Amino acid sequence: MAFVQLSRHLKTLGRRSVPSMASLRHSSGFSMTLTDEQKEMQELARKFAREEIIPKAAHHDKTGEFPWDIVKKAHSLGLMNAHIPQEFGGLQLPLFDSCLVTEQLSYGCSGIGLAIEGTGLGQMPVIAFGNKEQKQKYLGRLVEEPLLAAYCVTEPSAGSDVNGIKTRAEKKGDEYVINGQKMWITNGGVANWYFVLARSDPNPKTPAGKAFTAFIVDRDTPGVTPGRKELNMGQRCSDTRGVTFEDVRVPKENVLIGEGAGFKVAMGTFDATRPIVAAGATGLAQRALDEATKYSLERKTFGVPIAFHQAVAFMLADMAIGVETGRVAWMRAAHEVDVKSPRKSYYASIAKCYASDMANRVATDAVQIFGGNGFNTEYPVEKLMRDAKIYQIYEGTSQIQRLVISREMLEAAKRMNN
Ligand SMILES: Cc1cc2nc3c(=O)[nH]c(=O)nc-3n(C[C@H](O)[C@H](O)[C@H](O)COP(=O)(O)OP(=O)(O)OC[C@H]3O[C@@H](n4cnc5c(N)ncnc54)[C@H](O)[C@@H]3O)c2cc1C
Repeated sequence: MAFVQLSRHLKTLGRRSVPSMASLRHSSGFSMTLTDEQKEMQELARKFAREEIIPKAAHHDKTGEFPWDIVKKAHSLGLMNAHIPQEFGGLQLPLFDSCLVTEQLSYGCSGIGLAIEGTGLGQMPVIAFGNKEQKQKYLGRLVEEPLLAAYCVTEPSAGSDVNGIKTRAEKKGDEYVINGQKMWITNGGVANWYFVLARSDPNPKTPAGKAFTAFIVDRDTPGVTPGRKELNMGQRCSDTRGVTFEDVRVPKENVLIGEGAGFKVAMGTFDATRPIVAAGATGLAQRALDEATKYSLERKTFGVPIAFHQAVAFMLADMAIGVETGRVAWMRAAHEVDVKSPRKSYYASIAKCYASDMANRVATDAVQIFGGNGFNTEYPVEKLMRDAKIYQIYEGTSQIQRLVISREMLEAAKRMNN
């Protein structure tokens, strides 16, 4: 089926069959079989990655240019905003289906994949915690036009320790006035609106659960200034910037849930976004494995393809074990979100941590299999190794994921013992 035809078909399917599409659910019990709709969605994303992303990936990596043309095309085909509720124009697909798409886009290029999907991190607090008017206004416009959102939490002095953020929000009449500096914001310079977390209670003794307020801030509000584009190690075409807020006046209608609920909103977002990061890391790792396998069958040493040396074959086997396990991990995590499981944070952190660490191992091994060529920019794997690193850092570092996992495990053990 041609591109546009396939995409139209999927948009219709999505509208018709949303509630029944949660995957890994099967009348006969646990199933790893994708539905026909999921296979079609996956195929659309795979085709898009092969035809639209891969040919342009090296250019965007070299120049750092934001891939607006590709983003616009992805938007027109329905590959963006799939998780936005139908009521506001989206497809309202289960997270599982979004992850299927992410894996394919990251296979093509995880930097371009992030340019297409990074908007989801900004949207997710509004999807999960916004009221009807906020959703209509801010999600609706993202569906209508290829516009993007961004998530502004990290600051120069606080990343893992969110409780340490210093951006202030002061209530003045029917408005809040925001002052502060955010750092490392994906889509910082290309977003139409921002999700912003600010401290609304200046008392340092107030617990995090009451001290912060979450806002939606329009990009064109006076006092909002994105900084220069950061030159990063990998995923270079993604637009990462600092954003300054100077006496930015935001109407109280743009507060999510209410004053003091910001920490819950900001952290609650990660249950749904970490499985997506895990799927992206898995896509990158699959690409590294495919490139290394192909090369190992072509490159000869000592009279045979290097794949015939057991040391290389076993390295490929270990890479395959990692990729397959990473895929099962994101599938489990996405499923837990789709069925609203109370353990979704635990599985989201396991998937994010495992797949990120695995993608780094697999990309490094791919470089090793390419030998000297692997170290060179003419070959695809050095880019994969650079691109992989960020998965262990953003949306909570691998250390922070282990913190979440161990806390959950220990709490569960305590409950069992009582
Ligand atoms: C390219 C890129 C894009 C990003 N996009 C966004 C975005 O869109 N929005 C946003 O808000 N942020 C974003 N970030 C920020 C990112 O989430 C943070 O960089 C990350 O959470 C780590 O925070 P930090 O850099 O302050 O490191 P720190 O918190 O200073 O951590 C430094 C090191 O100490 C370790 N560490 C810290 N605390 C502990 C602990 N308690 N136990 C064990 N180890 C610990 C960390 O794991 C890390 O290795 C982005 C970052 C980058 C680089």
